[in-house]
Amino acid sequence: MNLPLNIDFTGKVAVVTGAGGVLCRIMAQAFAQAGAQVAALDLNEEAVKKLAEECRAEGYICEGYQANVLDRDMLEQVHEQILKDLGPCDILINGAGGNNPRATTDNEYQHEASEGQKTFFDLDSDGVDFVFKLNFQGTLIPTQIFAKDMAERKAGCILNISSMNAYTPLTKIPAYSAAKAGVSNFTQWLATHFAGTGIRCNAIAPGFLVSNQNRGLLFHEDGAPTPRSHKILNGTPMGRFVDGEELLGGVFFLCDEKAASAITGVVLPIDAGFSAYSGV
Ligand code: NAD
Repeated sequence: MNLPLNIDFTGKVAVVTGAGGVLCRIMAQAFAQAGAQVAALDLNEEAVKKLAEECRAEGYICEGYQANVLDRDMLEQVHEQILKDLGPCDILINGAGGNNPRATTDNEYQHEASEGQKTFFDLDSDGVDFVFKLNFQGTLIPTQIFAKDMAERKAGCILNISSMNAYTPLTKIPAYSAAKAGVSNFTQWLATHFAGTGIRCNAIAPGFLVSNQNRGLLFHEDGAPTPRSHKILNGTPMGRFVDGEELLGGVFFLCDEKAASAITGVVLPIDAGFSAYSGV
């Protein structure tokens, strides 16, 4: 992979949650390639073990760990193992997150709903809880576990993953939008709370990428773009989706203690202009 910035993370331990998924896999690989010792965490053990093997085959340092970001005891155990394998955490990427179909309406607008469709009134409370918990607690709990390493050494960096829908909610996904608004807000809270300890906390807000969680909303089964895809691209000044590797410049910059030494509490949009455009 072509790394976007010439930043050397040698000697840093980077813990990446959700590293079995599309975006955080790329981030974990990039940190390893830039010299970091990477701990790749995911519910999906096979995915992170495979990622770690691939990184090691390239000569980089990466270990894969099965971990549920909502399971404090499991994370404590994984943390102990990482301390033995790699050392204390310097950089935490809180990447595990996502939406769930149980918290998604079939229609953008209630007045367009037809018989048999799942409307706002049918949203499943457990599905809504699931999405809130995964995105918000799934950011908070790993931070409680891994930022202790940073507080002890009075240095470190936390990077959360917010979203475009944190600024203005997207239709159909009320729980995910509100949960990511919570992640942006929590990023500012952490930045303030930890400012005196030498820990910085920032977030990126990726724009529209094509990935597992939204493929069904963006493309029909035959691959043709949905009306939602057209709407997104019409609202994106650069007229295209963002590629996963395009997140890396912002991620590296915010995690570099020299380049971003005075930057804490920001949420950086990486969105091909989506958040800048009013639609008119
Ligand atoms: P993805 O679905 O490809 O990856 C998410 C990963 O998280 C999966 O590997 C999954 O196994 C893991 N995971 C789920 N629950 C977990 C848990 N409880 N504990 C540990 N791991 C768990 O998603 P992605 O597109 O790579 O998204 C990564 C992050 O970026 C998420 O926070 C997502 O909300 C955010 N995001 C994505 C987009 C996008 O368009 N793809 C846009 C904005 C923000």
